[in-house]
Amino acid sequence: MKVPFLDLQAQYFEIQPEVDIALKEFLATGQFIGGEYLEKFETNYANFVAAEACVGLANGLDAIEISLKALNIGAGDEVIVPSHTFIATWLAVSNCGATPVPVEPDMQTFSIGSNKIESAITKKTKAIIPVHLYGQPVDLDPIIKLAHSYNLFVVEDAAQAHGALYKNKRIGSHGDVVAWSFYPGKNLGAFGDGGAITTNNNELAKKIRMIGNYGSKTKYVNELIGMNSRLDPMQACILDIKLKKLDEWNIRRRRIAEQYLIELKDCNLVLPDKFDLAGGSWHLFPVMSDHRDHLQQILEQNHIDTLVHYPIPPHKQTAYLSEFLFTSFPVAEQASSTLLSLPIGPHLSMDHVNRVISVIKKHFN
Ligand SMILES: *Cc1c(COP(=O)(O)O)cnc(C)c1O
Repeated sequence: MKVPFLDLQAQYFEIQPEVDIALKEFLATGQFIGGEYLEKFETNYANFVAAEACVGLANGLDAIEISLKALNIGAGDEVIVPSHTFIATWLAVSNCGATPVPVEPDMQTFSIGSNKIESAITKKTKAIIPVHLYGQPVDLDPIIKLAHSYNLFVVEDAAQAHGALYKNKRIGSHGDVVAWSFYPGKNLGAFGDGGAITTNNNELAKKIRMIGNYGSKTKYVNELIGMNSRLDPMQACILDIKLKKLDEWNIRRRRIAEQYLIELKDCNLVLPDKFDLAGGSWHLFPVMSDHRDHLQQILEQNHIDTLVHYPIPPHKQTAYLSEFLFTSFPVAEQASSTLLSLPIGPHLSMDHVNRVISVIKKHFN
């Protein structure tokens, strides 16, 4: 039996009749930038996460970058980021001219804690970017409290946290701005690139929309040095259909996570058992092993796809090497050498999941 990491084809087949009809209707409108399909999705997504506003953008990286720009963050400013994250979190800071200041996350939840953040704050610090990595919601309350006491903004990177709950409230409006990616493999993914921000600050939302649209509110009148970063309405049309499925799909992910957590207890793996089972979106199911490469090899020999998130920490990437030559981030470094993500997704059958479990048990029990 072959076990795919994530089955996007099966996901399409589940919603195919609705998608095929909606796409035909969309194409017939002839409106290929902006328009009613985009507006409808923005309204529905804002409602879904209980935020005042949603602005569609071209991708998740732009969503973080434009959020920072809208908060007037740029050259000479510092932004606190986790040392262990997908590199886009750092790139967004660098792209607006500011400096990413890495803070080590907790090894059990991969979240940055307010105690470690405080010692990284300087006079130049303007914002903190908590990342809900793997769909595990960051403990936001102490971070927001800290941010307020130092006059800092909180920009959440929620690219892996669609539908996740923090203290029974959906991720989407706790911080000043929340940045989303709709990359196909995310819990809510388009048929191509896509992104958005959600916020309770309507003025900020307007500025973000302006920056994503050439710095312009009125065609050919440009108030800011903007970009071209808009959510494609065809993708919005797809996302609107998938949004209705998101909660159910996340429940299916959670069931898989539950099964792994129960069945892999005695296999010499560090399981994500400190994650919030009910609140997380279970974008990924990362396990830690000192024999990670061997584990991955065994699974591969048994036709089970796995991935490493992420194999090289940002500070070790050539892009950042010169800035961090003499700094080490042991948590990020250990995470990159021991983590392995097991297959998880709404279209993975329990047979697939049990196959993964039995192969791991056979070799590592
Ligand atoms: C996917 C992702 C991004 C970037 O999103 P894109 O749409 O691919 O630009 C940013 N941060 C995290 C944590 C992600 O997983």
